[in-house]
Amino acid sequence: MREYPLERTRNIGIIAHIDAGKTTVSERILFYTGVSHKIGEVHEGDTVMDWMEQERERGITITSAATNTFWTPSYLYPSGSPPSHSALADAQFSDQIKNLKKTGEYRINIIDTPGHIDFTVEVKRSLRVLDGAVVIFDGVAGVEPQSETNWRYADDYRVPRICFINKLDRTGASFERSLGSILDRLTPNAVALQYPIGLEQEFLGIIDLLTMRAAYFEGEKGEDIVWKDIPEHMKKTAHAWRSKMIEKISETDETLTEKFLEAKEITIPELKKALRAATLAYKLVPILTGSALKNKGVQLVLDAVVDYLPSPLDLPPVKGIDPETGAEIFRNADDSEPFAALAFKLQTDPYVGQLTYFRVYSGRLSAGSYVLNSTSGEKERIGRILRMHANHREELKEIEAGNIGAIVGLKATRTGDTLCDPDHPIVLEKIVFPEPVVKLRIEPKTKADQEKMGLALRRLSDEDPTFHISGDTETGDTTISGMGELHLEIIVDRMKREFSVEANVGRPQVAYKETIKQKAEAEGKYIRQSGGRGQYGHVYLRVEPLERGQGFLFENAIRGGVIPQEFIPAVEKGVKEAVEKGVLAGYPLVDIKVTLYDGSYHEVDSSEAAFKIAGSMALQEGSRRGKLVLLEPIMKVEVTTPEQFLGEVTGDLNSKRGRIDKMDDRGLGIKVIDANVPLSEMFGYATAIRSMTQGRASYSMEFDHYEEVPKNIEALIIEGKK
Ligand code: GDP
Repeated sequence: MREYPLERTRNIGIIAHIDAGKTTVSERILFYTGVSHKIGEVHEGDTVMDWMEQERERGITITSAATNTFWTPSYLYPSGSPPSHSALADAQFSDQIKNLKKTGEYRINIIDTPGHIDFTVEVKRSLRVLDGAVVIFDGVAGVEPQSETNWRYADDYRVPRICFINKLDRTGASFERSLGSILDRLTPNAVALQYPIGLEQEFLGIIDLLTMRAAYFEGEKGEDIVWKDIPEHMKKTAHAWRSKMIEKISETDETLTEKFLEAKEITIPELKKALRAATLAYKLVPILTGSALKNKGVQLVLDAVVDYLPSPLDLPPVKGIDPETGAEIFRNADDSEPFAALAFKLQTDPYVGQLTYFRVYSGRLSAGSYVLNSTSGEKERIGRILRMHANHREELKEIEAGNIGAIVGLKATRTGDTLCDPDHPIVLEKIVFPEPVVKLRIEPKTKADQEKMGLALRRLSDEDPTFHISGDTETGDTTISGMGELHLEIIVDRMKREFSVEANVGRPQVAYKETIKQKAEAEGKYIRQSGGRGQYGHVYLRVEPLERGQGFLFENAIRGGVIPQEFIPAVEKGVKEAVEKGVLAGYPLVDIKVTLYDGSYHEVDSSEAAFKIAGSMALQEGSRRGKLVLLEPIMKVEVTTPEQFLGEVTGDLNSKRGRIDKMDDRGLGIKVIDANVPLSEMFGYATAIRSMTQGRASYSMEFDHYEEVPKNIEALIIEGKK
């Protein structure tokens, strides 16, 4: 039996630029939801105060990939706020609340998203499994570079979202400027539902433009919401903002548009309903505001999560592929459909070992049952199923569609894999991860380290699909690659802390790639006839460039058996190995299609080995004729610097082959520079920019795309001089 119907479930993520206040907001959320949940359980004997005491000692931390919380919208309480703790002594009050819990409490799963841009993959994988997001902004800085990147990802995954403009208590904060930057840089569909009362030190409360009342947050942690009339001097402003809001919401709904044009009264429930529909359809983005640090506004964000973000039922059915027939299959968020789930995060837990976090899309899963990992093709036994709360873990016998849990002890499941009912196999749409751009050689320090290093690296790469290992972990000749210097630094550090493996690492190097620029054909002939049984392999290949990101494709177009079927896989293997090894400078060839269209064979002398070599030879020759070039990763770099260093910073970027796209004013003499710079020029930039600007500038960088390396530089790379 479900405790919470699906329409009262929300799977959300909190997305923010580093320092915008994600941790502070999350802690407040765990605190308020914990308190309100406990309030509902006073009959169970442990008093709220006790619980809060313990909580204070331990401190709430968010370490799990998904934390389960409960929230009853504050407006459902007769007083407009979860009651203060002293009110709980009133028996009648707690009866009321028990009832409310039955009918009005929502389950909110909070899925962790990371802050740093090197972990793009983490943001992507969490966006894949969450249904809605709260995006947090710093009320001084407004939209920052990473907010923009994450916003685009959320667009790609079609995630409905609401925004919280935080830190209104900070000096220099401005609700209107921050909202303006959202409208300018992210979406014209933002609609303010609130307006602040005062700013900076004078930031006192929040006007709710729907109900036209003012909320103040009292109590030690702002847990008591006190609703009052809007202060006289702000009434005009509030009315103006309310009109703007009504106009924007009405535009999304035909009936409301008519009412609006005829100047008829539009009720609050009508507005809320239209706003919910428009938010789910990506037509509007509700904007809220406050100060998490000063405990102002966070409960109203939770109310908005309930009111405007989707439940699993609001989503279209999830799409997958039947692994046997390749046909598309759709699954609804329904317990009676066959089980299908996506593993979205692996985490090592100090108490129970490996945890695999997963989201159930359809059907249900019981502890002790068997499932198929349709990505790897292996069957897995489900040991224990856990659900993580802020301060405890709950063991589940069963978990249903739309929910998120963690399985203990899966062996062959990696991030992004599908788990499903063995009788109804489905592979859910893959999370597409970017290819690593930085690599370095890694060497175990001692013999003992050598033994453990292979296992540690494998574990870490199972967890993180943008972290790759290549080479031979047995002999110690190993290369690791990832999304940035910091990404690899953290991996090496985790290896030391979590697996006690010490390693020496080489200099970070760019993961170049090779590709071709035009179509070409070539012959590959491997014929040896020197007595006894000879060797005979002979092929004609056509190579042609594909669009960026398409990788490698092999097509067999042999007709009439000029090469017998049994040798074709050998040709493909030879081609593939040559593609992976590269032709120009030892970097993998990408975005190339290879067609095997002709050849010949010898009754006696032909062998798989000979065709493999012939395939490899033809590929090398063909790609040389196809005009080989080297590609390098280009990074999107954003530097924030005091104006006085602007000349130096831009000059330096220019000298690094950087292209400056944009320069913006961030107010208070701060400039923001957007540029595209080749990764090879960016190693050590953290130190360089620190000394250039006396430590006063900051920057962020992420992979953007691959681009052809200029010829003069290509020559240096091929000669190994760069
Ligand atoms: P995260 O990096 O996004 O997780 O941000 P944190 O929650 O760690 O916050 C970064 C810094 O901003 C910390 O020093 C917080 O105390 C501070 N901070 C967070 N919210 C607010 C706020 O509402 N007002 C002010 N003045 N500071 C805040």
